[in-house]
Amino acid sequence: MMAAIRAGELGARVLLLEKNPQLGRKLLLTGKGRCNLTNACSLTDFIRRFSKNGNFLRDAFKFFFNDDLMEFFEGSGLALKVERQQRVFPETDRASSVLSVLKGALARHNVQVVYDCPVADIEVDDHQVFGVKTADGRLFKTSRAILATGGVTYKETGSTGDGLEIAKRLGHHIVALRPGLVALETKQHFPKILEGLTLKNIALEISNGSSKLQTEVGELLFTYKGISGPLVITASGQVADWLREGKAVTVAVDLKPGMNETELDKRLLKEFRLSPRRGVKTVFKSLLPQRMVDVFLNLAGIDFETKANQITQAQRQKCVGLLKKFPLEITRTGPFNTAMVTQGGVSLKEIDPKTMASLLIKGLYFAGEILDIDGDTGGFNLQAAFSSGYLAGQSAAQEALDKKA
Ligand SMILES: Cc1cc2nc3c(=O)[nH]c(=O)nc-3n(C[C@H](O)[C@H](O)[C@H](O)COP(=O)(O)OP(=O)(O)OC[C@H]3O[C@@H](n4cnc5c(N)ncnc54)[C@H](O)[C@@H]3O)c2cc1C
Repeated sequence: MMAAIRAGELGARVLLLEKNPQLGRKLLLTGKGRCNLTNACSLTDFIRRFSKNGNFLRDAFKFFFNDDLMEFFEGSGLALKVERQQRVFPETDRASSVLSVLKGALARHNVQVVYDCPVADIEVDDHQVFGVKTADGRLFKTSRAILATGGVTYKETGSTGDGLEIAKRLGHHIVALRPGLVALETKQHFPKILEGLTLKNIALEISNGSSKLQTEVGELLFTYKGISGPLVITASGQVADWLREGKAVTVAVDLKPGMNETELDKRLLKEFRLSPRRGVKTVFKSLLPQRMVDVFLNLAGIDFETKANQITQAQRQKCVGLLKKFPLEITRTGPFNTAMVTQGGVSLKEIDPKTMASLLIKGLYFAGEILDIDGDTGGFNLQAAFSSGYLAGQSAAQEALDKKA
């Protein structure tokens, strides 16, 4: 959409072919329906939030960065707000208002949108685009085409990977696709019992045996098969890499990051002495969410009938250890269709970062998640899509108009 808007704004005749009966199905899901459309951090911090390929976006960000995007929406009457960690949302808290602005801009710049129109191929002659073929056999003649068909997650939104297949047929290399920003599955089965429970104010230490990754304090969500939540999703790219390298990945959940082991031991002693005849389950309800107490005591090897004054020193130490390092073993990342982004995609080696043009096919451009670019949660992926789209639209339009002149 942004590519089409920018090309239209520069005066090019633009056709947007959308396979769905509506635009922006994935956009409507973003930010839990609120659309975290960008992040207000600096360029240097922004680029750091992408896995190794962030630098590729430097030129695209030069043309159209977070301040330009915010101006684009606010200039169209959509007020924005900056929330924690500099995440930017519309004041309306509705992704649909972001989509409305984009649709308004498409109309304003005379972009013709064709719905229910899956693109099947890009026709090329002697390494030059000459048309776009749709699934119903129509050929739209053009010397410029922008492929912006997204990744391969949440396929029901339309991102089924068609564009990646087309790019491959045209000779582009596709870096292996992996689920990114995704939940993790555990060897332990108890997450199933705790499904839906969110632990607040916890921290994670994720290890592959030799290297460790320490998260900040945040939330952990138990799922049917493992763990999720912002901390897990952010760390999932690194975990996926370690798993692919055949490393055993473990997670130690620090359930009490505000206290060290000595302080925790003192706190437990105090709780046990406060009412020595209380059952151990009751005591632990003051330390952990109720739903977690049975799982915790099972792991600690403490009988549920035990009274506070019957807990041995060894058991207390075991509890302190578990509160600081509650262990989980990771078996795999969650499936593709639950991932927020696709890692991998069209190799950047064959794309000019200054224009988003293919270095193999003249007149072909790429934008968005189809590229081998993925960022953290926090608005980084949408800004990457908007910025690369803006640059692709601008380059395609300028070339087309230069040719006419
Ligand atoms: C649940 C969820 C929440 C997210 N939340 C955020 C967030 O808050 N902030 C953030 O920055 N990122 C978020 N993301 C990531 C972000 O949505 C994507 O990175 C972004 O949408 C990519 O944009 P895109 O235009 O490249 O691809 P898409 O948004 O996937 O759009 C691709 C479009 O191409 C169309 N298409 C596909 N194939 C064809 C074809 N053959 N012919 C014609 N049309 C075709 C599709 O129907 C679709 O309309 C989230 C992702 C998910 C799944």
